[in-house]
Amino acid sequence: MPRLHCPRCTRPVDHCLCPLIPSLPSRSRVLILQHHSEAKHALNTARLAALGLQNSDLLVGEVFEDLPQRLQQSGYAPYLLFPGDQTQPIAEVASRQALQPVLLVVPDGTWRKARKLLHLNPLLATLPRMALPAGLESRYRLRKAPMAGAVSTIEAIVESLNTLEAPVRFDALLKPFEALIEGQIAAMGEDTYQRNHGQPAGQE
Ligand SMILES: [Zn+2]
Repeated sequence: MPRLHCPRCTRPVDHCLCPLIPSLPSRSRVLILQHHSEAKHALNTARLAALGLQNSDLLVGEVFEDLPQRLQQSGYAPYLLFPGDQTQPIAEVASRQALQPVLLVVPDGTWRKARKLLHLNPLLATLPRMALPAGLESRYRLRKAPMAGAVSTIEAIVESLNTLEAPVRFDALLKPFEALIEGQIAAMGEDTYQRNHGQPAGQE
């Protein structure tokens, strides 16, 4: 018999994360672009982020036809959250946020897939870029991060919004993510986790 899945968070119904997902307002708007190969992944943190933020959208695909209209949404200044040669520190962007709120455009997926999205949607490459502070480490290492300092999409969004909208905090967004990670660790067994990923989550 197939396992029933929650249509909202897509987790098996006995592991539904919805009670933990907040509904947070934000001044910034978040637009997540998810490569379709990521959509079915068990650790779909982009979806959790989109569900927990009132002012957000998640688009799943490869070529996003209506991107020009979405980037021109009146009142918002779009920034791409992606490394590059000329990135602006978030704190700097935050200081201008009083004038015009930010449309935070977040490509989701492995670095390779995210680069592919940029290639297939050239408009993205024309946006000013914003980078997370250097040295930021993911608290969780279940997915292989090919670059030092790589964090999950939901962690990147929380970090960005915490800086953009300080002193408002968005840590509550991480609650379902933390439960998801704990569930994954329990499922694979603590021994295997430590062997594969070093430090267990929460040991800091
Ligand atoms: Zn659910």
